[in-house]
Amino acid sequence: TFIVLEGGEGAGKSTQARQLAIWLREEGFDVVTTREPGATKLGMRLRALLLDKEHTGMSARAEALLYAADRAEHVSSVIRPALERGAIVVSDRYVDSTLAYQGAGRELATSDVARINEWATGGLVPDLTILLDLPVGLGMARHGRPADRLEAEPEEFHERVRAGFRALAERAPERYLVLDAQRPQEEITREIRRRIRPILPD
Ligand code: C5P
Repeated sequence: TFIVLEGGEGAGKSTQARQLAIWLREEGFDVVTTREPGATKLGMRLRALLLDKEHTGMSARAEALLYAADRAEHVSSVIRPALERGAIVVSDRYVDSTLAYQGAGRELATSDVARINEWATGGLVPDLTILLDLPVGLGMARHGRPADRLEAEPEEFHERVRAGFRALAERAPERYLVLDAQRPQEEITREIRRRIRPILPD
């Protein structure tokens, strides 16, 4: 079972990923928590390249390919092996992040970005994607001072990203749970459990 958390800056993805993993382990499952970009040794180098402000102005296509390279390594060395041994994988970000940031945000054709990523992942799609949706202004306030190259993008960029995520969720409602990230953290945790219970292995 492959579960992904998505959302913009400051939406609380990592907190919810942590809570989810704790609960699933209590329930006796083998759980692998992971994230993008940067879950592998190669990925850590790519993450540094991607987030360093030194590379402000990197071409959008190069950026999309570097994220795809990080993801290809992530799928082949972390996600697939874990799924094959029957573990539940909880990932903080996956392909939909790239469709939202590099597609909607950078205004690359979504169909191109989707095609590259289908190849990079060998077509691996999550069983469930949880979108923590938050107004851009609030997310930025929660997150504090922009720390990396992407966070320093203007508000319009982050507005396009948010709209991109929401459009993806609307297109694939069967594998999406969209939650208002302004709700109290414990309530969100409970909603996530309720939605996941029926898709867990026996
Ligand atoms: O989720 P996290 O904060 O670790 O993401 C690192 C940075 O990479 C964020 O600034 C996020 O906006 C950016 N990002 C991106 N495109 C992706 C995934 C993440 O621009 N596909």
